[in-house]
Amino acid sequence: MSGRRIGVVVPVFNEAESLPEFKRRLSAVLDASGMEYAVILVDDGSRDASLALMREFHRQDPRWKALSLSRNFGHGAACTSGLDHIDADAVVLIDADLQDPPELIAEFIQKWREGHAVVFGARTGRSESWLRRSATSVFYRLLNGLSATPLPLDAGIYSLLDRTAVESLRRLPERHRYLTGLRSWVGFSQVHVPYERRPRHASQPKQSLLNLVLLACDAIFSFSNAPLRLATILGLAMAAGAFLFSLNVLYEKLFTAKPIIGWSSTMVLISWTGGMILFTLGIIGEYVGRIYNEIKQRPVYLVQEKVGI
Ligand code: UDP
Ligand code: MG
Repeated sequence: MSGRRIGVVVPVFNEAESLPEFKRRLSAVLDASGMEYAVILVDDGSRDASLALMREFHRQDPRWKALSLSRNFGHGAACTSGLDHIDADAVVLIDADLQDPPELIAEFIQKWREGHAVVFGARTGRSESWLRRSATSVFYRLLNGLSATPLPLDAGIYSLLDRTAVESLRRLPERHRYLTGLRSWVGFSQVHVPYERRPRHASQPKQSLLNLVLLACDAIFSFSNAPLRLATILGLAMAAGAFLFSLNVLYEKLFTAKPIIGWSSTMVLISWTGGMILFTLGIIGEYVGRIYNEIKQRPVYLVQEKVGI
């Protein structure tokens, strides 16, 4: 088992400040594992010295390789490109910002040796702002409640995947890559290792809070049809209400002498129905937009340069 090869894929977007320390800590862990290894740093269109550092790392140690994408494609695409280019019996996905301690990889490997196909880190605590923390927590719970595949709570990309899991991920054709979700979708034997998420080693998170909210909506729309069902239920409820209301109007018209009043009620009804129609159209639009994006069949990423691959 120790003769097996381990690969590490690291998405990097302007992480020049963290990379040297990241390399030091990751190398220590991998060397200690006694296994053969290769690391692919994916430069996701960084504008700082990240790519230059990667070339330097490769000169110092050829096991450190780099893949440079033609522009910024986003975290999911960067991880996907790394997974496509690595050949190893198990692949670790880890961010470069040292929020996920590389030391945990030893435990991942241990679980993998016990026979698990997917080992992922589950965050028990986060040294992030209160707002960010609660937003993330609400999101994970909402997503899990809505999704047909059970998605692990408080898990990110940090994980180890064995060859079967990696090959299964490669077979998933969608352009839109929410890897944490796809990873649980593939199934096999999955196990988590709890850990505490650290603050970033350097600089600010590369994703703003608004960005995270958008990502969250994205994850919900691509992993769940529940919003569509919500539209149906809203429609049904409003139709039922309208039916009862019209019975009432008819009754008053035919059997009572009450004059039919109603500027206010008409306006309220019209504005409500208008709002609801636009809202449900928007939900449908989210799905139509996704279908459009998938059907274009564009590649998930484009490679500009390979260093040592
Ligand atoms: N990243 C990337 N492309 C992007 C944004 C981020 O490759 O467009 C990388 C980034 O360098 C880091 C990892 O993805 O290694 C996670 O990014 P970040 O720390 O900003 O996300 P968070 O930890 O808040 O989820
Ligand atoms: Mg981070």
